[in-house]
Amino acid sequence: MKPAPFEYHVPDSMEEALMLLRDLGGDAKLLAGGQSLVPAMNFRVVQPSALIDLNRIKELDYVREDRACLRIGAMTRERTLEFDPWIAQWSPLLKEAMPHVAHPQIRNRGTLGGSLANADPAAELPVLMLALDARLKVHSVDSERWVEAHNFFSGMFSTDLAAGEMLTEIELPLQPAHTGWSFLEMAPRAGDYALMGVAALVTLDEADKCTAAKLVYLNAGDGPMDAKEAVQLLQNQYINDKLIEEASSMASEKEISPFGNIHASSDFQRHLAKVLTKRALRQAIQRAGELQ
Ligand code: FAD
Repeated sequence: MKPAPFEYHVPDSMEEALMLLRDLGGDAKLLAGGQSLVPAMNFRVVQPSALIDLNRIKELDYVREDRACLRIGAMTRERTLEFDPWIAQWSPLLKEAMPHVAHPQIRNRGTLGGSLANADPAAELPVLMLALDARLKVHSVDSERWVEAHNFFSGMFSTDLAAGEMLTEIELPLQPAHTGWSFLEMAPRAGDYALMGVAALVTLDEADKCTAAKLVYLNAGDGPMDAKEAVQLLQNQYINDKLIEEASSMASEKEISPFGNIHASSDFQRHLAKVLTKRALRQAIQRAGELQ
């Protein structure tokens, strides 16, 4: 199918894009990589009256180290996240997860901002933003505000963005010392959306006691699912097999709410979550130990 007719605008600056967004009203949509928006328009699931193409705005495409964080522009391609040296050095969890996002052709076009604004519960990047305690910068013509990642996603394909607002920058704290990471998922084929996935971080002190941890799941509810109670079981503990079993059970049985789909029942998704959590925690703990 072909999309319904729409106006097409190509601003050269963020300021111009924000003015267009304000002036064209709620029916206009921002076009980033187009990897979700264009198929949805072709199926006529969405019929924007106008597209504001962000692809000429170079000021939204960057990865910078800035004291204790990385700053990433909203129009940074998923492919850049996969290969950027700052990300490899300071956010190895993000680097490890990127090859799981769709296929190389899609990552060449898809952007960080587009994936986050799209808020697909099966997408990897929203999960990573929660795991990494990201902050998101949101602009309108006359305002600027920061939103914590855990407040940004408000449900299936739904975010905290209001009419006239654009996501412009993502701030990632540098990975703390002695922190191990793991990203694991199960997909029917490489590049497919995963049936289940987990991002894990574990920080150990010099005596190998866990001082902090994160477990965040994709395709496990109506948005990225942060298993806080499972993490509580690990906090201030010397993690052993029994604790890993308990935390995996807590997360997979009590804290996620997978819906099931044509490829997997919700019971099977919970089973996957349990198996993946055990493997991810073991890998993260091993990596944290190697960093001591
Ligand atoms: P677009 O499609 O251009 O935009 C998406 C939405 O975000 C639109 O509503 C748009 O208006 C809005 N938007 C864009 N930029 C901004 C902004 N700066 N501020 C506010 N709103 C904005 N993703 C995964 O995570 N995992 C997968 O396995 C996966 N598999 C895929 C397989 C296929 C076949 C395809 C086509 C896509 C797949 N994707 C997957 C999605 C892809 O990786 C992109 O992340 C996603 O399409 C959104 O990025 P985009 O830049 O293309 O955004």
